[in-house]
Amino acid sequence: MGALGTSPADVDLLIEHAAILPMVNAPAASLTMAGPDSILYDGSLAIDGGRIVDLASADQLAGRYAATRTVDARGTAVLPGLIDTHHHFLQNFLKGSRDDLPFADWIAQISSPLIGMAVRDYLDGDAELQRQATRLGCTEALLSGITCIVNMEWATAPEVIDVYEEAGIRAIHVLTLTDLDQWDSPGMLLSLDGALALAEQLVARCSASQGGRVQFRYGPACENSASADLFRQVRQLADHHRVGIHFHLAESEIGWQNIQRRYGKTPVRYLHDLGLLGPDVLAAHCIWLSDEDIHLLKETGTSVSYNPECHMKLALGIAPVYKMLEAGVVVALGTDTCAVNDNMDLFEAMRVGAFLQKVSTMEPDVLPAYQALEMATLGGARALGLGDSLGSLEVGKKADLILVDLEGVHMRPINHLVNNLVYCASAAHDVKMVVVDGRIVVEDGALTAWDAPQAVAEAEAYAHRRFRDAGLAVSPWYRR
Ligand SMILES: [Zn+2]
Repeated sequence: MGALGTSPADVDLLIEHAAILPMVNAPAASLTMAGPDSILYDGSLAIDGGRIVDLASADQLAGRYAATRTVDARGTAVLPGLIDTHHHFLQNFLKGSRDDLPFADWIAQISSPLIGMAVRDYLDGDAELQRQATRLGCTEALLSGITCIVNMEWATAPEVIDVYEEAGIRAIHVLTLTDLDQWDSPGMLLSLDGALALAEQLVARCSASQGGRVQFRYGPACENSASADLFRQVRQLADHHRVGIHFHLAESEIGWQNIQRRYGKTPVRYLHDLGLLGPDVLAAHCIWLSDEDIHLLKETGTSVSYNPECHMKLALGIAPVYKMLEAGVVVALGTDTCAVNDNMDLFEAMRVGAFLQKVSTMEPDVLPAYQALEMATLGGARALGLGDSLGSLEVGKKADLILVDLEGVHMRPINHLVNNLVYCASAAHDVKMVVVDGRIVVEDGALTAWDAPQAVAEAEAYAHRRFRDAGLAVSPWYRR
């Protein structure tokens, strides 16, 4: 029954009786989130036309809406969808392939052959490897509660964008560009002119994506594998098409030394002087930074993707995230590829990322749980220039959200909801439902777009055949 006799309004989806963490938008300068007091312990949320139209206590919303679909969400927490700001789906085929192999050897023996295969396939007009990689990646991302992902790939045919649409995920598709042969790069198989022509096609394809859910960004690989000319060209193209830029920055000490030797500047200062940095730039890693570099990132509005598990596994160093946050730089969270992580669990990345900052500063109060959770949600949205429409649960914002089970043994007892979510939750066990643009894309831990186990089996069988035919070693664990 509607209040005061008014009839209930029709909505698409009503989620009832959940603990809701709205994470109310804070001023852009301070990355603070509304505290635990803002949690609705027995809340309901109404969604219509892909947007959140109401959000209040379950009592207040009772009878106000007639929903096409009502979800009884008792025993779960509703959070904004997680935003993974750095990944490479193709390399997920390399999950578990690297442990103590030196980085350069792993690149030469394991990573380069795969990327080379993808680039040659593209030149031959065969998109199946990238299509399978994108299906595999979207499957794991959505089941892990990731509603928006930044996926940086080598030559990808525009038809691969169909896979994101089919999955229902929000994606920022980045095309890697290189014109310097730093790692004997397989990307060099495709001429720069060819890559830039492909970028034009991807700009057009992504700008016509369903619901605008796929965006394009230019990806000059890193400061050591793209020339100054290419960085200048990318800046002009990004301005012209009004799309963003994403790349690896200040990731390794060797790379940092190269730039110092060549230009007598830090990588951040070098790119700043080229006019590359700006609010449309998201830089992954940013480990090797001076205080002046942090100031330049803040001044230019450049955002940073923090990938703590990759930094630890590859022994790259510790990004000064606490300093960046203090300086007002927007920092988001990323899992990086499963070749160097080796999962897409952003809960784990929040936990590990916070712990790493604490131990590196010997300050236990650095990067508290709520700030880690904010990096994985609103921080990601802001880093992508989407903070007005994504990243928190507010009336008018897009309905990208997840339901996280609170009943698992590992989650109990709950002494502080945010702390328990960040320090106890597991993407693989606890993500029960995922909603993107108001559409349910994961329900009861299963994808709605396709059968997840079948997609994984198909991708493995395909990769097994391709790797075997190319004379590469294939693990006996691959399904055929
Ligand atoms: Zn990367």
